[in-house]
Amino acid sequence: MDTLQLVKDNKYGGQNDGQYGGWDSMVGELVRQEADVAIAPLTITSSREQVIDFTKPFMTQGISIMIKKPAKEKPGVFSFMSPLSHEIWTCIVFAYVGVSIVLFLVIEMHCKSGVSNDFSICNSLWFTLGAFMQQGVDICPRSLSGRLVGSVWWFFTLIIISSYTANMAAFLTIERLVTPINSLDDLASQTEVEYGTLQGGSSMEFFEKSKITVYSRMWEFMSSRKHVFTSTYEEGIERVRTSKGKYAFLLESVKNDYINEQLPCDTMKIGHNLNSNGYGVATPPHSPLKESLNLAILSLKESGDLLRLKNKWWVDNSECGKDTQVSTPLTLTLSKIAGIFYILTGGLALSVVVAIIEFCYKSKMDASRAKKLHCRQTLQCSHICSIIRFCSATSIYSAIRHYSDTRFYSAIKVFSAVLYSVANAHCEDLMLKYESRTCEVMEELAVNFCCNDPVLRTLVQWARLLRELRLGVGGSGSAITDKARAQCGSALCS
Ligand code: GLU
Repeated sequence: MDTLQLVKDNKYGGQNDGQYGGWDSMVGELVRQEADVAIAPLTITSSREQVIDFTKPFMTQGISIMIKKPAKEKPGVFSFMSPLSHEIWTCIVFAYVGVSIVLFLVIEMHCKSGVSNDFSICNSLWFTLGAFMQQGVDICPRSLSGRLVGSVWWFFTLIIISSYTANMAAFLTIERLVTPINSLDDLASQTEVEYGTLQGGSSMEFFEKSKITVYSRMWEFMSSRKHVFTSTYEEGIERVRTSKGKYAFLLESVKNDYINEQLPCDTMKIGHNLNSNGYGVATPPHSPLKESLNLAILSLKESGDLLRLKNKWWVDNSECGKDTQVSTPLTLTLSKIAGIFYILTGGLALSVVVAIIEFCYKSKMDASRAKKLHCRQTLQCSHICSIIRFCSATSIYSAIRHYSDTRFYSAIKVFSAVLYSVANAHCEDLMLKYESRTCEVMEELAVNFCCNDPVLRTLVQWARLLRELRLGVGGSGSAITDKARAQCGSALCS
């Protein structure tokens, strides 16, 4: 009789009423006392423990999922987008537009009070884009509110760009394994990829007896498709390799880990183990060998021999190299940097409040300044007209009186006469044009014509010259001046 023999049907052992003893395979042979010891990756289960004896476990494992390793995905042309999630990109676009609009509005409010506004909506968009791209633009906000918007946007940009840059390298250099199924839940919630276990093994029994919803749902799926079960592990592994990702095999993690490290390195384990179990050496019930086997296993464990052997065959014997364990870089999600969006929103709200305060303050200041300016301009205009008319009118007579005996007499006389007629005509013309109108029109006249009218400007200069030559005598007396004062002067200057 052989001392060591392979089990006849090459299986571990399941309950089988057709067999003597109610069990088949390895367990059946022990039950029927056909073998003294079974040394195999035989899982310790409660049903087996009732009919045979197990030693203490020499290895621990759990049911796991094996799938075909997908082809590595090289970084695509748009992988520069990958460091940040889609929702972050969307939020950045909204933040960009929102900040540009707020910047435009707060500066527009500020400039209502008379400061020239460089920040049109286009320039605001350009400024914000320039800051985001880490570039400078030649316009800068000057108001406190505008600078507040600029500051929070620069801070926001700093954080986003730093986070993006930190993640970017990983995304561009790593070839990612994109697996269609990433976990047990993924597998259980679909029907396209079939899955199965070894026929009649402890894994099959686990699903059959499980009361956990997801496992019982998986059992329903498997039991309705009998072809998903395999008669050996090798058959299951081969099916995984040849079915182009359409078959996942549920096997014990120890075998899964081992196969994944062997050529052709085209399989991989996904997700966590479904349970935790142990392999034990089995003997017929009440066998005297059990005690000595237990002691041997414990001493092998304590001496580290079992661990050394595990490493030798599972780690050192690896044929696939390290690149199979590619870790997928994580895309930065919104929840991780939501704080920076809160700061941006808070900064924008604060800048709007500051802009309103600025606007009210400036409006008040502008109102009092405008009042003074108006008064001055109106009076200036009426004075100018007065001076021109009076000076030019009297200049002829003054010239005759003072310079009658000089050689300048004729020249000054002619010049004064011309000046008088031009000034008179021009002033009369202007005042006639506006005399029937209201005070506002008079103000407009003062502002628009006194400053911009070239004839008046020239006349003012000539009148000043005449005054300096002491040919004219300044003062009031013009009918128009009187009228302007009567209409507007007191009201505006009070
Ligand atoms: N080790 C298992 C057993 O003892 C067989 C493998 C399996 O069911 O996945 O039945």
